[in-house]
Amino acid sequence: MNRQNNARTGPGTAFITGVTGQDGSYLAESLMSQGWEVHGLVRHVPAHINDGETTVDGVEYHLGDLSQPHDVGSVLKSVRPDLVFNLGGISSVYQSWQQPYETALVSGASVVSMLEATWQLQQATGKEIRFLQASSAELFGEAKSAPQNERTPISPVSPYGAAKAFAHHAVNVYRGRGMFAASAILYNHESVRRPAKFVTRKITAGAAAIAAGKLDKLSLGNLDAVRDWGWAPDFVDAMERIVSAANPSDFVVATGVSHSVQDFVEAAFAAVGIDNWRSVVELDESLARPSDAAEMRGDITKISSELGWRPSMDFESLVAAMVRNDEDLLAKDKAPQL
Ligand code: NAP
Repeated sequence: MNRQNNARTGPGTAFITGVTGQDGSYLAESLMSQGWEVHGLVRHVPAHINDGETTVDGVEYHLGDLSQPHDVGSVLKSVRPDLVFNLGGISSVYQSWQQPYETALVSGASVVSMLEATWQLQQATGKEIRFLQASSAELFGEAKSAPQNERTPISPVSPYGAAKAFAHHAVNVYRGRGMFAASAILYNHESVRRPAKFVTRKITAGAAAIAAGKLDKLSLGNLDAVRDWGWAPDFVDAMERIVSAANPSDFVVATGVSHSVQDFVEAAFAAVGIDNWRSVVELDESLARPSDAAEMRGDITKISSELGWRPSMDFESLVAAMVRNDEDLLAKDKAPQL
């Protein structure tokens, strides 16, 4: 990332919430490889890290919970970052239906306290702090057409989408106040670090386990949902470009190509050599969501033309990479719990 700062070490200091998550861990690795000093917010000490979380050597971890605004404000004051990446929160639409209030608090209201704490610190020190919010395609839940772009009306259909919509508006409010506050409107993105509570990883881990004779059936909810799936490290690159841009703005980050969950299932089973996937996949109504977003497909014209970003990984390669990783984990007896 090409940005010069008057920082203590390297190009500057970055603070990441959600640093143990899929994106936060890739971002921490990427920034550190460029000389950034990286600090991250965690809810528990990394020695007690849970399945599905990734820690990165060299990151300085700070205890705190996004639902406790005071925690985050104090950590920000002690870190005095040049960049703030707000990636933490409840990131699963399914979980948001189980915990709607917590989702509103952690993925919605807490963003205002992060923005306010960042603004206050900037005012007190006179040093610019750039803020990037992990916004979501779920803002456009009821989109009437595809692809969606930065001007598509915001009309969420889940507690997750509603919380992200509130946060998205709050970022615009602080941008209007004069802060460098930007949003990456992220479409679905996957990797080998995706936890198995997400349908994509459940599918790749399930296909690998069935092919190895360690699982009989894979239960899934809605196979018809249509999503635009990208590769997480590409999306982290997009976040770095957005926060380094000349001006703060909103950018759709996607691949521009959509597939159904059924396409994902077919590709995963094809990767393990099973053509007759219908015989091992069962539909379970209880896993379907009360309402699901329409076709999600992003228009990446703005980020491509203004920031030169393009995705590097196509759908089939992405699914195959996840399946190969799950096969390796099975062989090492480290497969995720399904
Ligand atoms: P993830 O893997 O689920 O990571 C979420 C992170 O947030 C974890 O480090 C988690 O820490 C932390 N967190 C959750 N609740 C917290 C709390 N109360 N206080 C402090 N930290 C908390 O998510 P991701 O896939 O990397 O996504 C990163 C961001 O992008 C999220 O905001 C997500 O909503 C957004 N996004 C992701 C996608 C996608 O497809 N991945 C698409 C659109 C938008 P714990 O380990 O303590 O739970």
